[in-house]
Amino acid sequence: MSDFNLPTELVSALRLARHVVALTGAGISAESGLPTFRDAMTGLWAQYRPEELATPEAFQRNPKLVWEWYAWRRQLVEAAAPNPAHHALAALERLVPRLTLITQNVDSLHQLAGSSAVIELHGNIRRTRCFANGHPAETWDESKAVPPRCTICGSPLRPGVVWFGERLPEEALNNAIEASATCDFFFSIGTSGMVEPAASLPQVALKFGATVIFINLDVEDKTTPPLFRLNGKAGTLLPALVAAAWPDDGEVEG
Ligand code: NAD
Repeated sequence: MSDFNLPTELVSALRLARHVVALTGAGISAESGLPTFRDAMTGLWAQYRPEELATPEAFQRNPKLVWEWYAWRRQLVEAAAPNPAHHALAALERLVPRLTLITQNVDSLHQLAGSSAVIELHGNIRRTRCFANGHPAETWDESKAVPPRCTICGSPLRPGVVWFGERLPEEALNNAIEASATCDFFFSIGTSGMVEPAASLPQVALKFGATVIFINLDVEDKTTPPLFRLNGKAGTLLPALVAAAWPDDGEVEG
């Protein structure tokens, strides 16, 4: 069990919830060693400007730089493992009647922790497709052109993520909005809420009457039901919250 003073109203709202939504961002994977975008000093944006690397225009301007940056991030992702926060959400899926997991992350760590049916709003860095036609590519020859070329149409390959200025996958976004409007408990975890439309999902949940909790390192602890804010590491707070709501269920795997 936890040493935290978790608000009682929050713990019982989670325990009684019929449909939980969890929206996650880069912060949930920080404890797995993956840098977030906006955390000063450690964030990837401290070294690069987003418009230099994560837009279609940037790729057209300098495809080699963008490809190599994503190749470096892909290596970090492939070496990373889920942390206690990912595991707590996977455990929560088995404890509540329904859980919808919506992620802005591109790292597959929720799936590796055992979560099922993850809604990926921003694609996945482990997938690759060609720039011109979206032909998927499983393998490519690193020793030739950088970026490598599509074997079907010859267009350069790009990561299977959603860049700034690109449309989100429509079905994923519709499912995320629908779940946010119908849930009774909504987590926003490790996201600075600066990237739309994901940033608006907690407001949708609040509007339709859900309990909403923000967990990240930018907020002040605040208890004002139905809106809660907890400042702390997801890898500590999430297992503690799940264990507080289901004290008889044994240790939540970390
Ligand atoms: P962000 O970088 O803008 O914000 C990160 C948030 O996480 C901040 O609010 C910070 O306080 C919080 N945080 C940091 N460490 C934490 C911890 N241990 N526990 C809890 N909270 C913590 O991230 P964002 O809002 O997700 O938006 C940036 C975009 O970056 C997203 O679209 C996402 O796709 C992409 N991104 C993904 C990854 C990944 O897949 N792991 C990594 C970097 C960026």
